[in-house]
Amino acid sequence: MVFDWLRARRRRRLLASRPIPDGFFETVAGGIAVLRDLEPGLRRRLYDAATLFLHEKRFEGCGGLQLSDELRCAIALQACLLVLGLPAGVDAFAGVRTVLVYPEGFTARRRDEDEFGIVTEGHEELLGEAWDEGQVVLNAHDVIEGGAVRDGFNLVLHEFAHQLDMASGEDDGVPPLPAGRDRQVFAQVLETAAARLAAAEERGEETAVDAYAAESPAEAFAVFTEAFFELPDLLAQEFPEVYAHLAAFYRQPAADTRCGG
Ligand SMILES: [Zn+2]
Repeated sequence: MVFDWLRARRRRRLLASRPIPDGFFETVAGGIAVLRDLEPGLRRRLYDAATLFLHEKRFEGCGGLQLSDELRCAIALQACLLVLGLPAGVDAFAGVRTVLVYPEGFTARRRDEDEFGIVTEGHEELLGEAWDEGQVVLNAHDVIEGGAVRDGFNLVLHEFAHQLDMASGEDDGVPPLPAGRDRQVFAQVLETAAARLAAAEERGEETAVDAYAAESPAEAFAVFTEAFFELPDLLAQEFPEVYAHLAAFYRQPAADTRCGG
């Protein structure tokens, strides 16, 4: 109890002493597509959540990477976008202690074969590691590339969605839902949508959302989360049920929280 009180006091002081620097959302956050048209009220909340995140989580550059403040900031802002509407706020990431950032390639989403025929498949392995030790593993290349364009691919949103999923006890694709929401229905809706993507891919069709969602229930939640924040209109149109369930969980109708569409 006393620790909660001390933490709350420390946080209040930290936030009170931090106005948003001039031009912050145009420069530092400007390179991140999902943050570009956030309305002012949400900017303030996001800035505060990211400030706490940066103070309370350990960041570590790996594989020779020198972590810049900009990169740290880009990670914190995108991660915190996920929790803006959650009652726990940034504490929804209580299980995350350390964010490890490699230069590139360590978190390949799927099996990649390079020109020498070497296959890398980092994501699954590293996900397991993250679960055990409260670590999130990212690579700088995809943090920057994935954040720059609203195309449905966003490594930070994807990896931190896995963390929210795990907060319910296991990575079963269902995060801790608000009271009254049925976990089975949530799982079923995402599974059905992911199966539709897999079937479309099988037929050689271009899919609206990455068919990697069909890999497992955990991947479905992470991939549909990326789409929810990056391409909300498309998701709402193609998979209205998935959109509705994610909007109820994240408590932010992603399309409506932006100014100017
Ligand atoms: Zn994943």
